[in-house]
Amino acid sequence: TYIVTDNCIACKYTDCVEVCPVDCFYEGENMLVIHPDECIDCGVCEPECPAEAIRPDTESGLDEWLELNRKYSAAW
Ligand code: SF4
Repeated sequence: TYIVTDNCIACKYTDCVEVCPVDCFYEGENMLVIHPDECIDCGVCEPECPAEAIRPDTESGLDEWLELNRKYSAAW
């Protein structure tokens, strides 16, 4: 899955939301999040993010962000 990280905070772009084929972006408290179970790992959103906030969860050190994405997307 892909996850949204801190560079998204207060970001005003929604380019990622527009390209996601499965609509798995949701509004978090002050940033967008990706629902980790709905994301099909296509990678289309990553280059679209001008803030480079979208990272694959295979990158190290992102556990807390993964939990945050899960928490905020589950609230919907
Ligand atoms: Fe949507 Fe694909 Fe990005 Fe996952 S990787 S959030 S499915 S655009």
